[in-house]
Amino acid sequence: MSSLQELFLDELKDMYDAEKRISKALPKLAKAATSVELQEAFNQHLEETLGQIEKLEQVFSSIGEKPKGKTCKATVGLIEEADEILSDNKGEPTINAALISAGQKVEHYEIASYGTLREWANLLGNEEAADLLGQILEEEEAANEKLNDIAESSANEEALGGDEEEGEESGDAEDVKSKRMVGEGTGSRRGALTKGKRK
Ligand code: FE
Ligand code: ZN
Ligand code: FE
Ligand code: FE
Repeated sequence: MSSLQELFLDELKDMYDAEKRISKALPKLAKAATSVELQEAFNQHLEETLGQIEKLEQVFSSIGEKPKGKTCKATVGLIEEADEILSDNKGEPTINAALISAGQKVEHYEIASYGTLREWANLLGNEEAADLLGQILEEEEAANEKLNDIAESSANEEALGGDEEEGEESGDAEDVKSKRMVGEGTGSRRGALTKGKRK
């Protein structure tokens, strides 16, 4: 085996592990999203990710190897961060923007990895593998674009608007903000508080 072949196999194992981890994380991201469009984007990418695991298995077989994963430490870290971002923004108007930021970091890691793998497959003269890896690369790029679109069309605005709107309409922006920081202070709750009663 040439050293590039070994390197290729190593990185293939890395991404096989990465995709399995991502397929377990995506349902959590979908569940945490409050935007229906974002939920659908994560769920659609989950379907694609399951297909990618099968495509990677075909790549293994194209080089006469059995599918085998090798812990992708980067993905472990990216998912750990996603969990943290998720719990920090739960119930906040920033939740969808936050989930998109975590999702895009994963997509960029995948785009870099599959760009490299496809190039190596080409250099090794493995057309079948290059084609499969190119298909995966396109799906990752499309997933990243989709997340970008949702951020630009709604999620970022929503994250920004969460601060402004309530402050402007109520005139007690300071009060609202300080409550929001400790995870309280929705419009209805605030109504109840101003009546001086709490159930
Ligand atoms: Fe993927
Ligand atoms: Zn990795
Ligand atoms: Fe980081
Ligand atoms: Fe992906």
